Amino acid sequence: MARTDALVLGAGIVGTCIALHLARRGLAVALVDRRAPGEETSFGNAGIIEGNTIFPPPFPNSVAALVWIALKRASEANYHLSFLPRVAPWLMAYRANSTPARLVATAHAMRPLFSQAVAEHEALIAEAGAQRYLRRAGWLKLYRGNASFAAQARELELAREFGIDNRVLDTEAARELEPALNPVFRHAVHWTGAVSITDPLALTRALVARFVDLGGVVIEGNALSLHRAAGRWRVEAREGHVDAHAAVVALGPWAPDLLERQGLRLPLAAKRGYHRHFRPAGNARLSRPVLDCDVGYCLAPMTQGIRLTTGAEFAHRDAAPTPVQFDRLMPAATELVALGERVETEPWIGSRPCFADSRPVIARAPNHSDLWLAIGHAHWGLTLGPATGRLVAEMMTGATPFCDPTPYGVERFLSP
Ligand SMILES: Cc1cc2nc3c(=O)[nH]c(=O)nc-3n(C[C@H](O)[C@H](O)[C@H](O)COP(=O)(O)OP(=O)(O)OC[C@H]3O[C@@H](n4cnc5c(N)ncnc54)[C@H](O)[C@@H]3O)c2cc1C
Repeated sequence: MARTDALVLGAGIVGTCIALHLARRGLAVALVDRRAPGEETSFGNAGIIEGNTIFPPPFPNSVAALVWIALKRASEANYHLSFLPRVAPWLMAYRANSTPARLVATAHAMRPLFSQAVAEHEALIAEAGAQRYLRRAGWLKLYRGNASFAAQARELELAREFGIDNRVLDTEAARELEPALNPVFRHAVHWTGAVSITDPLALTRALVARFVDLGGVVIEGNALSLHRAAGRWRVEAREGHVDAHAAVVALGPWAPDLLERQGLRLPLAAKRGYHRHFRPAGNARLSRPVLDCDVGYCLAPMTQGIRLTTGAEFAHRDAAPTPVQFDRLMPAATELVALGERVETEPWIGSRPCFADSRPVIARAPNHSDLWLAIGHAHWGLTLGPATGRLVAEMMTGATPFCDPTPYGVERFLSP
């Protein structure tokens, strides 16, 4: 590569979309990863482009729910006891952000990104010729009890305010949409404007191919080698070093490893999650992702089979997998949909990179020349990848950003 304007560190969905947006604006970009693109967190998600998202998953507000989690009986969450002291400050901050008022404030702060999520995906998908991975059928949230359905009334109210389309369905109406669902739930909400991806890895690869068509270069290298050399950013790659004027950190849950070397300590936690594929049993097929809200797992039809994704596990990012949530939730999952045999012997594990206020950091790093951050996309990195890519590219090139980036700034974590 004769000239490199920008290094994008991390080729997950977020880094790939940033690299593609920069390349579309004429910059010479190197996309750097130690693995092939899209093979980490961005590989294993439920594939939902959640343009409808209003509230982040809140910290449990009932003692009973907390006790259930503490006893390791809850299917939606698990934890490693030895990790709790380390994650406690983050959990307290998460709890503080889960008051009704803070949740509404977060919904407003995040709406500019979520409202563009589907349109920005569609634009990149069309450009990459990847329409075959896009399913326009919305997604379904199921509620087994009246109480859990009533608990999300505020969300539906805000959806009306924000103009987000949805249909509230009873059991039979939901089963008309998805005949494979057994009637073990009472209520459903069909978020009609959401879309989903049938193969997240294939999507990232298609976007990378488009990036390469535009002259972008994919480089195998270790982002931790980033340093300043002769007034530019330098990264050591397999075939020698690459220098660029600007660098973007899009390392997902690994971002702190690099940022701490650069003197920037941000409170990013990892909410681990697992998935496992099942072959459909007979005719029991799904046409869209389905979230069993009371139990806390998602079933998403993918090219590999029906992908069952779990809720959060609080454990060290690199600790050995402990996929105990499957044991807790499988009776409920097989009660809801007949699932055939497992596709893989071992479940996949990944880590959602999360800040306690459920907002990402999409900003220029303080006290560093042209170092940019795009991290902490939590439960919605697939959803927000293209919108983030556009926002970062607009900020880096001096264009007017499509939304106010202030809520995603890094200053909220810096001591005055
Ligand atoms: C079970 C589960 C279900 C989910 N479901 C959804 C969903 O339905 N919808 C949704 O929107 N989101 C979902 N998410 C969240 C979403 O997957 C993530 O937010 C998103 O993938 C994060 O993307 P990223 O590009 O930031 O990180 P990653 O995809 O992890 O990319 C980071 C990249 O950095 C690279 N890297 C790390 N360290 C180095 C290094 N030292 N040198 C070079 N490269 C390095 C890695 O190899 C990786 O490719 C889910 C997550 C999980 C775990």
